[in-house]
Amino acid sequence: MSAAGSTRVPGVNEISTRDRERLIEAALAARENAYSSRGHPPFRVGAALLAADGRVVAGASVDCVSSGERRVRGVLRAVCAERTAMVAAVSEGMRAFRAVAIASDVPQPVSPCGLCRQVLDEFCTRELAVLLVPGDYRARVGAGDAGGGVRVLALGALLPMVDGPFSRMTQG
Ligand SMILES: [Zn+2]
Repeated sequence: MSAAGSTRVPGVNEISTRDRERLIEAALAARENAYSSRGHPPFRVGAALLAADGRVVAGASVDCVSSGERRVRGVLRAVCAERTAMVAAVSEGMRAFRAVAIASDVPQPVSPCGLCRQVLDEFCTRELAVLLVPGDYRARVGAGDAGGGVRVLALGALLPMVDGPFSRMTQG
């Protein structure tokens, strides 16, 4: 069995236990800042990126109603937490990343939507470690589950056969 918290998955960037904990805590903290337009049930998500230089950049989901739709259907236009974090990181000049953690309120780990997978692929290799954090992670750890139910997989597993900047370089 691997050490508690380390990520040893074939084809996935390995990150230290300390970085893993930093990343998960940053995603859980960002979740607290998630926004959902008034009158819409919130689905709070936080995400945190581990840049290649060790910096951690977090983002929260921001669900707004566009003005044209407010009177008709009230459809929410989501900026997912993963994209919030990536846009913030890129705006700070970061261009390379080793891992991302994603946490919501539900006990099942939630995975990035298609658009977020594509945006991650724009800046990350297929070995990016994607940590899917259950909403009750802290309770699980407190109950003795050292891994906290976190699922770890590679971006390449989430986005097979993608036509992105890195896959163009690495696929035949
Ligand atoms: Zn998304």
